[in-house]
Amino acid sequence: MHSTTAPFNKLEQFKRTAAFIDAYYSIYEQFHRVKFRPTISFTGGEPAVNPDFFPLIEHLREEYPHFVLNLTTNGTWSQRRGQFLLDNMDSITVSYHCEGNDKQRQLVRDNLIWMRKNIKNVHKLKVNVMMHVDHWDDCIDLIDNVLIPHDIKYIPRTIGDDGRNRYKWFKDMDGQMRRTSHKYSEEQMDYIKNHWQKKNSQVGDTTELKKSDDGDVRKIGRPCCGGRCMTVKRLDTPKENDTMFIDQSNFKDWQCMVNWFFLHIEEDKDVAYHHQTCMAKTPDTPEVTIGPLLQHVSSFSDNRGPICNLSRSDEYLIWLEEKVLKEGRPPTMVCPNKHCGCGICVAKAKDPQDFKKLMSKYIITE
Ligand code: SF4
Repeated sequence: MHSTTAPFNKLEQFKRTAAFIDAYYSIYEQFHRVKFRPTISFTGGEPAVNPDFFPLIEHLREEYPHFVLNLTTNGTWSQRRGQFLLDNMDSITVSYHCEGNDKQRQLVRDNLIWMRKNIKNVHKLKVNVMMHVDHWDDCIDLIDNVLIPHDIKYIPRTIGDDGRNRYKWFKDMDGQMRRTSHKYSEEQMDYIKNHWQKKNSQVGDTTELKKSDDGDVRKIGRPCCGGRCMTVKRLDTPKENDTMFIDQSNFKDWQCMVNWFFLHIEEDKDVAYHHQTCMAKTPDTPEVTIGPLLQHVSSFSDNRGPICNLSRSDEYLIWLEEKVLKEGRPPTMVCPNKHCGCGICVAKAKDPQDFKKLMSKYIITE
């Protein structure tokens, strides 16, 4: 991740980060029961506007062929750039933000149709439709008249998972007016609910989804941002079942494997987190230098915040290796949050016995 206002980072910094990611992954990998290829997901601002993004991709392809590369993009590029992305990315996620002008929105629509025609594997392309309360009809139009007719996979993403509760308009750091937490109307909530109810029924989950009286979608639960099917054991029944939408999102104090599946890099701020929105960490994590771009964050605590500075990532890796030597394996987290955002798909459990059983599915625990 890189903000829209900070200066671009350079290729040499990206190379250092790639080496860190690979070393971090290797420490965890030795405990994996099932081997998988790590996915590097580029997000933004828009990654493709940094000229060093393109040589970085070539570097990664050459030095780390085991990485799977995914790009999250706003889709407003020329088809020449688009062809590079199709040729070099394993998968592309287009985030459709309808705040842009008519010309930008049309460009994204045209690019989506062009990509779908030129992409061989339908699973390589996905659209996150950011369901903006004030541009609802545009979102529905995109779904009904572009995505469904062209067989493009999509997820209607509700907005407001960042926990900052910004329901009112504010001037963002790039000068744009935004509000990043939305309250949906009853009709909009019904659309969201019906969409996921239908998806759930396709995997055999008949649980009636809740409604939110005040339009706050966080109260009704959450799907996986990647559209994954998840398995849950609900507290009122011992039976496990598959679901596309988990009907609650508060896992405070549950044990969680988020650090085993995620690593979030903020290049412009020189920090790494286990996860972007949840920011869970263990209280014994070594001290991190908080630079000027993070001074305003008030929610950091001993179990929530960055895990290291990218410029001193070697020190973190030494600490992690020592911890593994002492404790037998990398740690797991205790959830510090009352709302789980895009970490919802990660293995987690309230009951320690359930957690042990879950962990042993993924990692060697003996
Ligand atoms: S349950 Fe969600 S919010 Fe909590 S630690 Fe796990 S991923 Fe993070």
